[in-house]
Amino acid sequence: MTAARGRRRSTKFIFVTGGVVSSLGKGLTSASIGALLESRGIRVSFIKLDPYFNLDPGLMSPIQHGEVFVTEDGIETDLDLGHYERLTSAQMSRLNTYTSGKIYFSVLQKERRGEYQGKTVQVIPHITDEIKGVIREAAEGNDVLIVEVGGTVGDIESLPYLEAIRQMRHDVGAENCVYIHLTYIPYIAAAGELKTKPTQHSVMKLREIGIQPDILICRSERPIPVDVKQKIALFCSVDPGSVFSAVDVSTIYALPLALHKEGVDEKIAELLNIWSRAPDLGEWERILERIESPKNGEVVIGIVGKYVELTESYRSLHEALTHAGIVGDVRIRPEYVDAQAIEAQGPDLLLRGVDAVLVPGGFGPRGMEGKIRAIRWARENRVPFLGICMGMQLALVEFARSILGLEKANSLELDERTPHPIIVPIAPPPNEKGMRLGAHPIRLIEGTLARSLYGEEEVSERFRHRYEFNEEYRERFEKAGMVVSGVEPSSSRVEIVELPEHPHFLAIQAHPEFKSRPMAPHPLFIGFIDAAVKYRDTREEKPSRLVPVRGASGE
Ligand code: GLN
Repeated sequence: MTAARGRRRSTKFIFVTGGVVSSLGKGLTSASIGALLESRGIRVSFIKLDPYFNLDPGLMSPIQHGEVFVTEDGIETDLDLGHYERLTSAQMSRLNTYTSGKIYFSVLQKERRGEYQGKTVQVIPHITDEIKGVIREAAEGNDVLIVEVGGTVGDIESLPYLEAIRQMRHDVGAENCVYIHLTYIPYIAAAGELKTKPTQHSVMKLREIGIQPDILICRSERPIPVDVKQKIALFCSVDPGSVFSAVDVSTIYALPLALHKEGVDEKIAELLNIWSRAPDLGEWERILERIESPKNGEVVIGIVGKYVELTESYRSLHEALTHAGIVGDVRIRPEYVDAQAIEAQGPDLLLRGVDAVLVPGGFGPRGMEGKIRAIRWARENRVPFLGICMGMQLALVEFARSILGLEKANSLELDERTPHPIIVPIAPPPNEKGMRLGAHPIRLIEGTLARSLYGEEEVSERFRHRYEFNEEYRERFEKAGMVVSGVEPSSSRVEIVELPEHPHFLAIQAHPEFKSRPMAPHPLFIGFIDAAVKYRDTREEKPSRLVPVRGASGE
């Protein structure tokens, strides 16, 4: 069938591994390479292979693992998929993310179904074949598939993946594969030298497995001089023109341009023998210029959460704010405020000085009263507010307590005995975890802030929640001034609420941050940042409603 549509080009593969230490930014590097190839008119996609055994990161703590990213088709994934989507136009799905848990699970199910016909089921070939199978599936319809292997070379866990990608070269031909190894070159001040030994060892490990990297991308704090590149090339058996330096960049949006300047995409195109147009990077340059030298100064966004020790937990949020800053030509300074600290010290002290308050998603009771106090503070002081998922649920609880006078109002997730369950489990449970996941439509109500920001009547957003607004209370909320501005089209359930009395108070059950891209910033974030700028610019004229907290001056 496909043959009838003409010659079908086969996909080429870029395998990205990491060495020396973890957290080198393999995901961002892969995404940036994707962006560069796309800017040459090449159709790219990605697959992330994670060596851990959880079926997905859905139940892993964000503190350990960073944010859980959600795809259109409702898969809870590693945050690198967010980078892939933000930096390219690729749309990720269940085909683009696998963990060892998923791979082994599938093999075990096949074993139970008797699909291995009496054979002894082994890592090689059964696990490795399964891995190659999912790689091929993700490759379909793309010119290039970027395969990112999680973990660090040398880990026992990632061995089956490395064996599988080694075999791929044999299966699809050397001319269709490029192996990129991302490593780290530390600078040792005492010696005044960049040290290449860890990289040599990491490449040695790869070669032991049978993979000779074609390209080395070397992270370091300072640019790697030519003689050091030559030394790395010699000891790692890599062409000197294939050793690239990736110096820390001020913003992730500088990375595609930085890699291009080094010549990474040129080299990849050469090795894969891809004829393409010269990359068009004008849009990336424009974005970078706006992020680095905005004309409208800076706004401080107070993000009240409980995972503030690791800002990777709020990665998409951070990026969505940055994207909106590109539109507003304003620098975003996120101020992560610990919700529990607000419980202890009060919002006046900790939120004073912010130009807007954002309460993001969250699970479980810890810090929730602090978030509620932050919401109340933003509402009463007319500070722009955006609530996301748990942020919306708590905004509704806060309203019930303060405006409807239901002092003990709560979400059943946080207090099972509350006499006023404003937020209740979704019924019937949408899946075995009780969780509603992935993209769903929202109908926007005419005449509302949400409707004007989106500029459309029906939109689609991604969800990840187990609880929702208790419709029994809806009339009371609406009578008291809370406006429902977005609903689920068929059931009319509440998805977005706002307070028209307030300059900018909007909360949404979905996660708009997952859909924002630097080239297409999300309307709700654009509106929020716009409100923050306005608040900043007029704040001085208003008498402060804040009562100074004793001891806050440091006396
Ligand atoms: N814990 C809440 C729920 O499950 C909110 C989820 C979230 O913020 N992602 O509904």
